Amino acid sequence: MKYSSLVDIYEKIEATSKRLEKTYYISELLKKTVEKDIPTIMLLIRGRLFPDWNKSKIGVASKLVLKAINTSSGAGISTIETMWKEIGDLGLVAEKVISNKSQSTLFSQDLSVEKMFSNLRKLVTMEGSGSVDRKTQLIAELLSSAKPKEAKYIVRTVLEDLRVGIGDGTMRDAITWAFLPVKVDFDFEKISIEVDREEYNNSANIVQSAYDKSNDFSRVAIAAKKGVSELEKISLIPGNPIKVMLAQKVLSIDEGFERVGEPAMIEYKYDGFRMQIHKFSEQIKILTRRLEDITKQFPEVVAYVKNHVEGKSFIIDCEAVGFDSKTEKYLVFQHISQRIRRKYDIENLAKKLPVELNVFDVLFYNGENLLDTPLVKRRALLEKIVREEKFKIIVSKKIVTSNKSDALKFYEDSVSKGNEGVMLKSLNSPYKPGSRVGFMVKLKSSMDTLDLVIVGAEWGEGKRSGWLTSFTLACIDDNGNFLEIGKVGTGVKEKAEEGLSFGELTEMLKPHIKQEKGREVVIKPEIVLEIKFEEIQASPTYSSGYALRFPRVIQARDDRMPEECSTLEMVQKEFEGQKKQ
Ligand code: ATP
Repeated sequence: MKYSSLVDIYEKIEATSKRLEKTYYISELLKKTVEKDIPTIMLLIRGRLFPDWNKSKIGVASKLVLKAINTSSGAGISTIETMWKEIGDLGLVAEKVISNKSQSTLFSQDLSVEKMFSNLRKLVTMEGSGSVDRKTQLIAELLSSAKPKEAKYIVRTVLEDLRVGIGDGTMRDAITWAFLPVKVDFDFEKISIEVDREEYNNSANIVQSAYDKSNDFSRVAIAAKKGVSELEKISLIPGNPIKVMLAQKVLSIDEGFERVGEPAMIEYKYDGFRMQIHKFSEQIKILTRRLEDITKQFPEVVAYVKNHVEGKSFIIDCEAVGFDSKTEKYLVFQHISQRIRRKYDIENLAKKLPVELNVFDVLFYNGENLLDTPLVKRRALLEKIVREEKFKIIVSKKIVTSNKSDALKFYEDSVSKGNEGVMLKSLNSPYKPGSRVGFMVKLKSSMDTLDLVIVGAEWGEGKRSGWLTSFTLACIDDNGNFLEIGKVGTGVKEKAEEGLSFGELTEMLKPHIKQEKGREVVIKPEIVLEIKFEEIQASPTYSSGYALRFPRVIQARDDRMPEECSTLEMVQKEFEGQKKQ
């Protein structure tokens, strides 16, 4: 397929904010796409090179792209920089620069989707000396044969910032419209669809379920094209990460019972971090909740799983909790968060900051997918296959009850042991990857914090020069837009020994700098911080309509994807809650 055909669709999708219209364009594109191109199209349509479960990044800095635009167009670096400052989107700059050039040059040949994709994939693997030049060359080569609109999307794709706003739901529906045997009449005038709702929901659920198991829309689309029976054959594959199930929040035991039903399974809510652990072909793989592979950082956990969990292949869901080996007391998450990031001296750090693995679910066991198996049965299996040993691996502590005072006592026990509270779980529920469906809810004791994404910062002055300071924070709305809610500097330390430091945070943010204007820096939403505050106030200053009073950084939430930060709805709820108190 020609890249220009894909670009036409990008343009249409970008021009509308209506989800149904976007779905229509993608479904029409899918119908026209030959089978061999489907995997590439499913990825490129969202500006990606890998399926959701693969966290490889292109990781090319804006400066390098700027040089590539310069090489391919002949426009001066300073001219490009000035335009970039004015326009704010390097993709639009590339479009403009290339269109100026086009008056004098004839385009050589059409760029194909395959060529685009294979060149981008090469960027990911280039390393070592001379790789910066080779990367620049490769991008310049793509831009040289690009038409202006193509240049815009090449640059945005390379920078992993496509800006077309296509969510998982849109992808699922586009596949349903394109390939499932359900009649969907799309009314272009009214932007509405006419369908038999029940039939439609059944079809969309089949697609969703295939996606839940594979985490890969390319695989789902190819199967869907072949027929429903192929879709239904898609199963979990140990080794391929799947999204973790999330919990809704409740404010009391009563509300918890109301949500999950009685009796409920109630478990300690451990204050550590999530680990999804796979065993396959004698290999162990440990993933964070954002599905990053952290196997190398936790050699002791690999050993616990190998030696204490019976089974040839499985996927288990766990919380790793830090403890002090001298006092044998559990530690809050902040203490061990550095273990996720640390890439050297791992054995020593593992001794200094050991973790205990608390296993609470099993999703796949010896060839069998257990997502639809009721929780009580999954739990019974778990208790059979895990050989517990304190401070190494245990099954999460639980009771099953419908008695409120037993539940309250269990909650108090949990909190007195230093845990965050309890989880209440629905006994017969399936495991729903990636969603906060309410099959499990959390009841916490501590004051709430928000998880907010850094979208901007300022270069410091004086003794803080060289560091980014004063971080602009954002929450996310339903359409995936990041909305500003305030600035924070308090809580970040001068010295690395004292906790999350300016130096460390600056290094984390540098690769995501999009643009700089004097001391002001615009940052791609990537890094999530947990923020404590005195109060939320209504405020016209920030795009969310809210501001935080006395915000303070607690820690970096390395285990959170930017899309998983606190939502505008959560902020609103918190704001309303304050008024009631
Ligand atoms: P929080 O910030 O409250 O930990 P979160 O937004 O990171 O929540 P949620 O899904 O809302 O994540 O809360 C559930 C989290 O609690 C899980 O992701 C998991 O890491 C942790 N957890 C601790 N103990 C358990 C347990 N027994 N069962 C399930 N999850 C548990």
